[in-house]
Amino acid sequence: MPNTLNDLKARNRVWAAGKVAQDPSFFKRLEGQQAPEYLWIGCSDSRVPANDIVGLDPGELFVHRNVANLAPPQDANYLSVLQFAVDVLKVKHILVVGHYGCGGVSAAVDGKRRGLVDHWLHPIREVEHDHRDELDALPEGRPRWDRLVELNVVRQVKNVAADVFVHDAWARGQPLSVHGWVYTLGTGLVTDLGVTVSGPAVRR
Ligand code: ZN
Repeated sequence: MPNTLNDLKARNRVWAAGKVAQDPSFFKRLEGQQAPEYLWIGCSDSRVPANDIVGLDPGELFVHRNVANLAPPQDANYLSVLQFAVDVLKVKHILVVGHYGCGGVSAAVDGKRRGLVDHWLHPIREVEHDHRDELDALPEGRPRWDRLVELNVVRQVKNVAADVFVHDAWARGQPLSVHGWVYTLGTGLVTDLGVTVSGPAVRR
């Protein structure tokens, strides 16, 4: 575990040297352009490192992360990433990746006040409200929390698939799919929730 900034700088030099040892033109090639086929929309949680989880190198995954992997239709940061990914990079797949045990999801519904993040997490309270019967039927605690994590991913997939940039891409025949995954911290494995949308007829 690194504990000083000098450790981090030393680790950076080892990492870069390792990449060059494997592939001498690695960084030079990336400097010229990036051509990722995937956009990852995931949680900021330090235990969910996008590239590591799917074994992709720099240049292969365009990444947007925020607390609780939200895709809010009014968020300029997310929308800018989405438009660049779809219109310029022309990614083929958008992965919305939640994770079980998400602190953002639990913070949204635990009734405690934290400040600005309470506003950010409001969409999760809407998801909880819309699925209250289903959630109430589950045992309190982990089962309910895990299901809300899944329902949040499903909602964010719908948000992405309903976006005008995405619809414009489909209208011009650009191949593009939106997927919903959940990552399990305790195993390192992702589960596909089977809610993929690949065209304008959004599955309800
Ligand atoms: Zn999280």
